[in-house]
Amino acid sequence: MSNIAYMDYNATAPIVPGATQAIVDALACIGNPSSVHGMGRKARALMEDARDCVGAFVNVRSDWVFFTSGGTEADALAIKGCGRERILVSSVEHAAVLNASEVVETLDVDANGIVLLDGLEDRLKNDSRPTLVSVMAANNETGVIQPIAEIVEIAHRYDALVHCDAVQAVGKIDFDMQALGCDLISLSAHKMGGPQGVGALVKRPEIKLQAQISGGGQERSLRGGTENLIGIVGFGAAAKEKTNFMRVKALRDDLETQIKGLSDDIIIFGETVDRLPNTSFFALRGLTSERQVMALDLAGVMISSGSACSSGKVKASHVLAAMGVGDEYANSAIRVSLGWDSHKDDIDKFVQAYAKLVERVQQKNSNRSDAA
Ligand code: PLP
Repeated sequence: MSNIAYMDYNATAPIVPGATQAIVDALACIGNPSSVHGMGRKARALMEDARDCVGAFVNVRSDWVFFTSGGTEADALAIKGCGRERILVSSVEHAAVLNASEVVETLDVDANGIVLLDGLEDRLKNDSRPTLVSVMAANNETGVIQPIAEIVEIAHRYDALVHCDAVQAVGKIDFDMQALGCDLISLSAHKMGGPQGVGALVKRPEIKLQAQISGGGQERSLRGGTENLIGIVGFGAAAKEKTNFMRVKALRDDLETQIKGLSDDIIIFGETVDRLPNTSFFALRGLTSERQVMALDLAGVMISSGSACSSGKVKASHVLAAMGVGDEYANSAIRVSLGWDSHKDDIDKFVQAYAKLVERVQQKNSNRSDAA
């Protein structure tokens, strides 16, 4: 990857060396974790070791952890499986939450994308139907962190359950499920240095869920289907790694200082509030996000125009729309996200390529004003 600056960790992080090694070792294990013979028991032991690591990672007992095929499935299991009549979710949630159920109702956010707590309380006070509140720990596009402990405190006062999509937060900031008081959380391995296609729904033991895939009753009847042993082992190993996010934050801050020096017309979303240390989402008016992503790609810089799941579609970010950002900025927003293998060279490569785009826009604007 030496000639490439990979800066799209919020889409998928490169696999950490410890997880790669654990996966390679696990490939030699041929047993099915449900088989009772020795090889099966060996496979199960590997899986249970990984469950311990994932549980410890978010400070819960391992029996709270149920492996799934990723964050999307964990979100769907929590939202569809909880049996609550009403589902209140923030309007900046990932599509995995927004599209998990037809009865999802959205909660308003402020200009930084933070859930309005008074609005949440009003909604709970004025309607006593059994409710699940689902709010993400940190946004995948802006990196803005939600006040989860406060949300839990309000929701529990009205007997609502709280699910938190922690997919982007874990590994980037401290995340202690018990300290926050969440009832259910979703995790995804490939956002934290593990492989794609594996994640977990973590829940308090007293919360009863309806399985969405029953099959052969694996995962204590909550998620049928032979477990993705290789993926689970990689997930467990990734959960043991500690990234130095102060180092990553210094790189992100350096990038932001440099781009702000290029033009006064660059907006960084969520700049003044608590954000993930690795994420920067910003807009340069006058050049669409897609054009910027393509130009940077040609320069060997891999970034994204928002959430990976919606890139490819020419559609402004629903997150920015919920924050009240106008089309002019929303249509030109790009996201840079860093991680364990990011270095100063990546930042310099990005800034060099981005400076050319800024120049292009400035040239276009001055040609326009000359013609006027
Ligand atoms: N939730 C959030 C906040 C995400 O960013 C993503 C992926 O981008 C998901 C859920 C979906 O996770 P997965 O890709 O593991 O299905």
